[in-house]
This record gives sequence, C-alpha cells and structure tokens, in this order.
Amino acid sequence: MLFSKNKDNLFNVQLIGSKILKTKSTNVEKIDNELKEIILKMIATNKKFDGLGIAAPQIGINKRFFILDVPELERKEEDGPLSQAESVLIPQMPFAFINPEILEASKELRIKEEGCLSVPDIFTNVERPATILFKAETINGETITLEAGGLLARAFQHELDHLNGILFVNQAKPVDFVKIKKKLTSVKRDAKRKNFVRKK
Ligand code: ZN
Repeated sequence: MLFSKNKDNLFNVQLIGSKILKTKSTNVEKIDNELKEIILKMIATNKKFDGLGIAAPQIGINKRFFILDVPELERKEEDGPLSQAESVLIPQMPFAFINPEILEASKELRIKEEGCLSVPDIFTNVERPATILFKAETINGETITLEAGGLLARAFQHELDHLNGILFVNQAKPVDFVKIKKKLTSVKRDAKRKNFVRKK
C-alpha cells in the first residue's frame, strides 16, 4: 500500500509567524472526551515530527494544555539525583499537562540548546531556572504538584511559554540571537510561504 499512513490521526503544526502562536491561551474548562482525543492526536503528531513536546497553540488551539514526551536519558554523576517529577512522570510519558502553572522557580539558572517544531531547523541556547515547582491537572482530572529538574523542567517551561504566546527564539540572549538571526529570517520567510502551516 502506497498511502498507508493515516493522516487523520495527526495535526498540522503552526509555524513561526502564525497569529495563534502569539496569542495568550485561556484555561481549559472541562476535561472531556473531545480533549482526550485531541491529546491523542497531539501525541501522534509530536511522535511524527520527533518532538519532546507540543503545546495546544502549535496545533491551532489557544487553550492551556500541552503534552511532553521526555525520554529517560543516561545520567552522569554530575546530573545529581532525579527530580521528583522526573521519577514519577518519565515512566508515564507521553504525559498531558492541563492548565499548568509554575508555582516556584529556582534562582539557579541553566543554559541549554533548544529547538521547536514550530521553528524548524533553528537551535539556540536558552537560559532558564534549573528547577521548578509546578502544578497541573492530568487527563484524569487529578491535580499534581511536583518539583521538576533536568530536561523535564526545561521542556515544561518551553511548552508553558507557548501558552503565553512566547517562542524560545524570543527568549534567546542577544549574544545567541545574533547567531541565528540570518537563518531565522529565511525560516520565517519559508513559513509565510507555507501560510504558517507545517503539513502533517
Ligand atoms: Zn516549541
């Protein structure tokens, strides 16, 4: 079969320049079957594009939820012990976070390279708090409050930024931004040509 992949189970991804990506999202009022189906499609879309996570605005919905699919990475001694959220949630990935909030963020900052499904081919350093205390609702309607570190903390902050209309390239320091500026201009031009949609 030539066309065996079922694209009905995937979303197109909004690209940089899309109005939806710049809009602050509003709270999810009800966790119902419709939301659960959207989340399943988001998980499939994230897998297809090889992402670590995807936020609702990226698939065209200005509501406050995202999914993460953060892998268990090989840990080095200097990484220290796994955070509470990493030990609880990584075995359950992909995982959906509904109406997520950061309650506390560490003063200690970390710099690491990030990328984004909505900004293809661009990678740049972003400085963020190393650990966060967050709260979110789960697909089962429970509220979880966990302390997160490592890649999970970083990915959570990246996705939460999407819900506030912020892209990681806007968070880059000037010294890093100059390095991607030229390439970003061509990525933006390409996105515009595609009507700000990355086809599934
Ligand atoms: Zn992103």
